[in-house]
Amino acid sequence: MVHPTVIPRLCAGRRPVPYTERETVSAREADRWDRLCAELGFDGSATASPWHADVQEKEDEDLVQEELKGMGEHGLIIMRAREEVVEILQGQNRCAAWFEQAESDAVKKFRSLHYSIDETGPQYTWKIQGADGGWHYQQPYVASSMEGASTGSTITINGRGAFFQLRSGMRIVPRGGGPGGLSTSQLLHLDVYVGGTLRAQVVALLHEFSHVAGLLPADGGSLIGRELSTQNTQIVLRHCGAQVEAAGKHKSLFLHSGAGASPRGKQ
Ligand SMILES: [Zn+2]
Repeated sequence: MVHPTVIPRLCAGRRPVPYTERETVSAREADRWDRLCAELGFDGSATASPWHADVQEKEDEDLVQEELKGMGEHGLIIMRAREEVVEILQGQNRCAAWFEQAESDAVKKFRSLHYSIDETGPQYTWKIQGADGGWHYQQPYVASSMEGASTGSTITINGRGAFFQLRSGMRIVPRGGGPGGLSTSQLLHLDVYVGGTLRAQVVALLHEFSHVAGLLPADGGSLIGRELSTQNTQIVLRHCGAQVEAAGKHKSLFLHSGAGASPRGKQ
């Protein structure tokens, strides 16, 4: 899967401003935009400016951070979870060692990954009755990525899944097509972590990065894939559970950071 680099509108919609006219545009504003656009590799002006040479030397990881800053509140939430994962991967721990098996520079590769938010992704938890009469729950997907993807590939996060949301609406589908309908909202979770919490977000990013690193089998799509996805999360937690538990403990920034205990169940 190849995703184009995200260019913020402020660069794409901007016309080149001749150097001499810049003072009238609001010198500070133009300067800020130029820096940002230059960091993102957008050549908005044919005029070579003195600062461009410096900022273009910045590494790709800063570029991703700038992208996230341009993505509003959701971008900032991803940014914080991403920083937690970077800290985990930089540490001397079991989780980092697991990734290092597959990626010689796991931190660098993780930091190269871009993010996109699926704003119109699935939003309901489906409660479906199987042929045996038992009920199966399917939560909206949390995130997706490409198996064994290259540096600079993209993790897509469902804007309505457990990465950002605590709850979802529930749709009921009885066997044989009897009266179904919409039920009260359902708590979303990723393994034992409640949706929208920093730990759930860290688990989601570690899970996706495990796919990128080729450490987990592909689990997209089908019902079997969903079960495999649950198992894959458990594999991630076997290696990274202690680091996930520690996530955010040294900071008290997050509203829901105390949450974590919820009944285990299918995703
Ligand atoms: Zn997966």
